[in-house]
Amino acid sequence: MNNSTTPQAPLLGVIADDFTGATDVASMLVRAGLRVLQVIGVPTGPLPAVDAVVVALKSRTTPAADAVAESLAALQWLQAGGVQRFYFKYCSTFDSTPAGNIGPVAEALLDALGSPFSIACPAFPENGRSIYRGHLFVGDALLSDTGMREHPLTPMTDANLVRVLQAQSRGKVGLVRHDCVAQGPDAIRARFATLRTEGVTLAVVDALDNTDLTRLADACADLPLVTAGSGLALGLPAAYATRGWLDAAQLAEACASGRAAQLDQIGGRGVVLAGSCSTATLGQIARWKSADRPALRINPLDLAAPGDSPQAHEHKLAALTAQCLAWAHRQLRQGDVLIHASAPADEVRAVQAQLGVQAAGAQVEHLFARIAQGLVADGVGRLVVAGGETSGAVVQALGVQRLLVGASICPGVPWTQAQGRPLLLALKSGNFGGPDFFADALALTA
Ligand code: ADP
Repeated sequence: MNNSTTPQAPLLGVIADDFTGATDVASMLVRAGLRVLQVIGVPTGPLPAVDAVVVALKSRTTPAADAVAESLAALQWLQAGGVQRFYFKYCSTFDSTPAGNIGPVAEALLDALGSPFSIACPAFPENGRSIYRGHLFVGDALLSDTGMREHPLTPMTDANLVRVLQAQSRGKVGLVRHDCVAQGPDAIRARFATLRTEGVTLAVVDALDNTDLTRLADACADLPLVTAGSGLALGLPAAYATRGWLDAAQLAEACASGRAAQLDQIGGRGVVLAGSCSTATLGQIARWKSADRPALRINPLDLAAPGDSPQAHEHKLAALTAQCLAWAHRQLRQGDVLIHASAPADEVRAVQAQLGVQAAGAQVEHLFARIAQGLVADGVGRLVVAGGETSGAVVQALGVQRLLVGASICPGVPWTQAQGRPLLLALKSGNFGGPDFFADALALTA
């Protein structure tokens, strides 16, 4: 195990199931004092000399077998570089379906590591996500009573995480209740041992605040694999330091100074691309428009119709991309602009009824990918992207392979820079950020 903050091999390897989730967990590790590099997809070649590497996949909504294969490839790359501790990061609203992909990926990683047990804890108290008696709350509401019910790809209609995870897992799912978590790391470890004797492979863990997550981080720092939202990441570096795997004094200094990568200053106008239909994003779009800022709405039905040939579809895609770019080019002379496909749930359902759920999402993502390419070719150097899948599509289309993680805009969303390029990206999970997130983010880098 390494014992300094400049280890030969990174201490921690994170496998994130989408791009905004990757920047989210990277920003938490940076806040906790680690030097972090985020890579897009599974690279080849040696690992960088940092404390933690975050591999950003786009595996949240792919078929489970593909998600497993991609995640295992990421694990192998990290293992080949000498990493010994792993973190499977998913969304703090546990975005998944009965087919996966959280359970299948977690179990495949455990199998590959030869490890019998891990935790599942999407809690992110700073963003209102807490878990009590195995039930996930968003603010005061059960997950199933929030806009996540209507998510276009991963509708969450059950807040009971033990039930949700059990439906997508081969092994047995258990629970570590809050009364145990409140007693501290030793009690949590004892509960892990009991659950293991009962044949449990994945244990959902209650957490109401960062103190709970700190206790949990200490209790699970020795596990080869943890599976969690980003909240747990804040406590892990300190737990590693108490074991002598990181230098505690250097970590404290890095934490206090808020050491994050210094990103280049990149001027010029900024563009917001929103493909998220989450409640927070819809509110942010409404706020942007209410300030009379320029906004263009995309109708996915302009992109495709049932029965379109591939040629007809390509023609529509090219035409709509050109329209959007021409609009943006004009408007950007005056100020920052927003382009969104985001729509309320009833409108999304109507589109999905015509095009199919996956196809509708994919069509919109293709469009944003093309628009982003056109904008960057036109010299735009600052992009804010709302939506995990949407961010994945944009980052892939731009050929970005490594991201430096800068200062946070809000909990879970940092500015990042494509390494070696004049391109700043703020990749926002749909439900993150306050009402003025878009304007606030752009103001930070203006
Ligand atoms: P979030 O972070 O909120 O989950 P994502 O970008 O991950 O956001 O997912 C939103 C999905 O909804 C994307 O696949 C996007 O292309 C799709 N989408 C966006 N607007 C619409 C719309 N008007 N109709 C149907 N699907 C849409």
